[in-house]
Amino acid sequence: MLSLQTCHLEQIQIQAQTCYPEECCGLMLGTIVEQDGQLHKKLLELYAVDNAWDSAPRNPEEADLPLTATRRYWIAPQDLFKAQQYARTQGWDIMGVYHSHPNHEAVPSECDLKWAWPQYSYVIVAVNPGVPHDFRSWILDGQQFRSEEVTILNSAIAPTLETDI
Ligand SMILES: [Zn+2]
Repeated sequence: MLSLQTCHLEQIQIQAQTCYPEECCGLMLGTIVEQDGQLHKKLLELYAVDNAWDSAPRNPEEADLPLTATRRYWIAPQDLFKAQQYARTQGWDIMGVYHSHPNHEAVPSECDLKWAWPQYSYVIVAVNPGVPHDFRSWILDGQQFRSEEVTILNSAIAPTLETDI
């Protein structure tokens, strides 16, 4: 279960819009508590990073794919390392990754599945001009993603926001 605040959602949406039509990405920092056999992840701060897809290592079979950062994202290892160090100074953990899907549903792609780590939450925000943002969180369940329950804390939910729990 993931809990976050409306300001976090707004921050992701703004970043998604700024990066459009490319995918934006970042890390979610916070605390993880186990309660009743379930992991409760509390998002405390977003750590935005550049989409480093253009400099990502390619598998030989992917070398010729004309995919750009409009369809992929990549977090550079040095950014991950910096985020980890920062999280530690705050007594937090990296709880997951968020990214945007320009002109696409907030549903993980094959590529998202391929790179997913167990225990991480994967928040995806759909960005389509003029359409309300769809927002969902996913976690690995075996070899598949399943939708993760999201609790939005405090202030009122923006009317344009759709949450799919
Ligand atoms: Zn994706």
